[in-house]
Amino acid sequence: GQAQIGVTGLAVMGRNLARNLARHGHVVAVHNRTAARTRQLVEEFGHEGEFVPAESAADFVASLRRPRRLVIMVKAGAATDAVIEEFAPLLESGDVIVDGGNAHFEDTRRREAALRERGLHFVGCGISGGEEGALNGPSIMPGGSAESYRSLGPLLESIAAQVDGEPCCTHIGPDGAGHFVKMVHNGIEYADMQLIAEAYDLLRRVAGYEPGRIAEVFRTWNRGRLDSYLIEITAEVLGHTDAATGRPFVDVVADAAEQKGTGRWTVQTALDLGVPVSGIAEAVFARSLSGHGALREAAQRLPGPVRPELHPDDAAQFADQVEAALYASKIVAYAQGWHQITAGSAEYGWDIDPGAVAAIWRGGCIIRARFLDEIRAAYADGKPPVTLLTDPTFREALERAQNAWRHVVATAAQLGVPAPGFSAALAYYDALRAERLPAALVQGQRDYFGAHTYRRTDREGAFHTLWGQDRSEVEA
Ligand code: NDP
Repeated sequence: GQAQIGVTGLAVMGRNLARNLARHGHVVAVHNRTAARTRQLVEEFGHEGEFVPAESAADFVASLRRPRRLVIMVKAGAATDAVIEEFAPLLESGDVIVDGGNAHFEDTRRREAALRERGLHFVGCGISGGEEGALNGPSIMPGGSAESYRSLGPLLESIAAQVDGEPCCTHIGPDGAGHFVKMVHNGIEYADMQLIAEAYDLLRRVAGYEPGRIAEVFRTWNRGRLDSYLIEITAEVLGHTDAATGRPFVDVVADAAEQKGTGRWTVQTALDLGVPVSGIAEAVFARSLSGHGALREAAQRLPGPVRPELHPDDAAQFADQVEAALYASKIVAYAQGWHQITAGSAEYGWDIDPGAVAAIWRGGCIIRARFLDEIRAAYADGKPPVTLLTDPTFREALERAQNAWRHVVATAAQLGVPAPGFSAALAYYDALRAERLPAALVQGQRDYFGAHTYRRTDREGAFHTLWGQDRSEVEA
């Protein structure tokens, strides 16, 4: 065979990825369960590069140069297993199967182990940036063996987004590392979107700004430290007018946010790892709350605060404070996400470079932002910070945000505007700062009702107080 790489599964993602590869001069074998899609791709886009269409699995495999590199872009889940089972018997030792779908990293670990037994490399590969990114340059997060990356890496790097001449693609680590990191990316994306949505809500309901004006505020923010794709598109959405009604678009959209599940996976995994990702969790819960129509309906008439009006003269100052609160809360959300990445890396022995993850998210993906340069820099020198919060650059930003951040959270609470993302970020920050936490009392309660024992601050060992007897202390 002459094709350097093959793509099977030619729906939006696979088709665009194949076109991206062809446009970069690679010979691409293309295949789809329903052959009509394959023919359509070649008819419509055949002029963009060199495609080798195949209608059968055997022809597809035969068209690939060895070691074969085969990218699966089908519906995640059972379909991926079915396609792997279809192709694996046709492949030979040293060939590489890439799953570019949104697989759960545990499935990727399972598939990688099974295929390794059969002498095949399996690369669970996170691909971010949606349809657009797949065509013009996604952020690519390949896992799998280092050996597989030697053969696959240059191809992937050639089609990835580029920032300052660097490709947004790097070998993340063994087996499920790539899909794990992609999952956390999506979790951070949820948190960032929620924070931006809260900022909008505060500007609207507290500062009294109309959507068009808020779009302007976001455009201004986008020229500063908050410069990011998400802020940019937020301004576009807020500035859009509904053609049918002439009203702001945001006012005619039903306020029930949906989700495809990767945010939920991030939180479920964080719970298993014992990592407090409260910003991501609040974002997932906020979406789920918004969809509970009956619950919200029932609560419509519950009492709220008697609203003191914000003086219009104070609105502009409040808007600046919201910007500072948003930036501080964003630092916390990302710090939590990186905590999850480092915890996952330690748990599964992946040896993920946290700075490299920041570097490849600077382009191609939904959370792409100038901000990620700072995170990369925080991990650049030999001694990585325990948490991003203590990195000097972020520490300084948090210091400058103190009054504004607290004022915004307090104002939201006083005026009855929900700000779960801002509040959770601040609570996390203050909890980490606290010299003593009431966790000591929780340990006392646990020992009282369940004899769960506690450790002491002044000596080693586990202790239990005989609460039901003379309250003397025994060593457990
Ligand atoms: P879909 O998830 O809609 O999947 C459709 C493709 O899967 C079609 O090619 C279909 O073939 C194939 N397929 C489904 N079941 C089977 C099966 N049992 N055997 C063989 N082929 C099967 O396509 P997308 O392009 O949207 O996404 C592809 C993958 O990329 C998914 O895992 C998705 O989660 C992931 N992804 C998607 C993003 C997006 O923005 N859409 C972004 C990043 C990742 P047929 O034509 O014959 O029906």
